[in-house]
Amino acid sequence: MRIITDGVFGNVLIEDTGTQKEYECPRGHRFATNTPIIIAVDDDPEYNSGPICGYCYVDWFKVNLNAKEYTSE
Ligand SMILES: [Zn+2]
Repeated sequence: MRIITDGVFGNVLIEDTGTQKEYECPRGHRFATNTPIIIAVDDDPEYNSGPICGYCYVDWFKVNLNAKEYTSE
């Protein structure tokens, strides 16, 4: 298990489960990972998230950091 700080949510916990599991997020993305991203709140464990969809997580950053999609044409 690794804990990284992304400076936005605070602690983001990458849990190494060793076995790939499949997830489907509320927006319909299907993904399989053995290292789900979990938002961890130190002083309020009840607030910790479940596995975060990597696609939505990236979308969130794109929107909120105003990154543009890079196209190499
Ligand atoms: Zn998603």
